[in-house]
Amino acid sequence: SIMPATLSAISNGARQGILFKGGVHVENLSNTHAIAFDKTGTLTNGKPIVTDFIPSSIDEEDYLLSIISAIENESNHPLAQAIVNFCRERSSALSAHEVTDMQNYSGSGVQAKIDNKIWKIGKATFVGEVAAHQFNNGVAKKLADQSKTLVFIANEDEIVAVIALKDSIREDSKKAINLLKKSGIHTVMITGDNEATAKSIAAEAGVDQFIANCLPEDKVTHIKELRTKFGHVTMIGDGINDAPALATANVGIAMGAGTDVALETADIVLMKNDLSKIARAIHISKRMNKIV
Ligand code: ADP
Ligand code: MG
Repeated sequence: SIMPATLSAISNGARQGILFKGGVHVENLSNTHAIAFDKTGTLTNGKPIVTDFIPSSIDEEDYLLSIISAIENESNHPLAQAIVNFCRERSSALSAHEVTDMQNYSGSGVQAKIDNKIWKIGKATFVGEVAAHQFNNGVAKKLADQSKTLVFIANEDEIVAVIALKDSIREDSKKAINLLKKSGIHTVMITGDNEATAKSIAAEAGVDQFIANCLPEDKVTHIKELRTKFGHVTMIGDGINDAPALATANVGIAMGAGTDVALETADIVLMKNDLSKIARAIHISKRMNKIV
């Protein structure tokens, strides 16, 4: 049977938008020594906006926009939605294409066929890192240094365009992280995004450490390593790609706006996507353990 102190902690949490899925998680959370944050949708708002579109040839612009929007329309990645919106705004004459052989590479990008030609849309390592760095006199580095996420478009021969997207950092991220650091908790950002973009966002958020270029399975590996180093690790995320890491951490926390898989896998859900609730949740947990 559930103890009165546990019940009181769970209902106290619920009133503040912190959903503990069981007493054991309230008990567990206060032991945490390190917290790992996903970037997109967790530390950031997860609503990226296209800031730059750089095609290798201006003459091809309309054609490329029609190809990109046709393919990204088949993807449900947050970047894909932003890219489709941009294509529709930028070009009034998007021709329709039949997209076949659509393949999703979680954490990397998408590949599809149009008129029997293969197109790839995704991160540098997905389309060819060397070519991506050289594209348009190395414009990628400049964009990434501005905290922008990069998406390259390549056909079978070469990279034909780069799109940069900017996602704003959540208003409460900085404060929430500062609060956790003050209470002696090590903070880490884990992301699938590239090194330069990750570095820039990590600095804005103020985390102690960041790990970039992670595929979903890499996030799991890093959580395991953090567990070895810190003993007790909490992971917080929102995406399908975070679910394995949420399950691997001692405590998994999902953002309320997250995908179903993240919400189901997590031990705790922050109903209002408010990161300052992490410190609140730890406080509730510590108080309950004191009473018990
Ligand atoms: P995060 O860990 O920050 O949530 P993801 O692992 O989902 O990011 O994606 C990592 C990178 O893969 C993105 O920054 C992007 O460059 C690329 N990517 C993934 N899916 C897509 C897509 N549908 N369209 C374009 N790029 C994509
Ligand atoms: Mg995310």
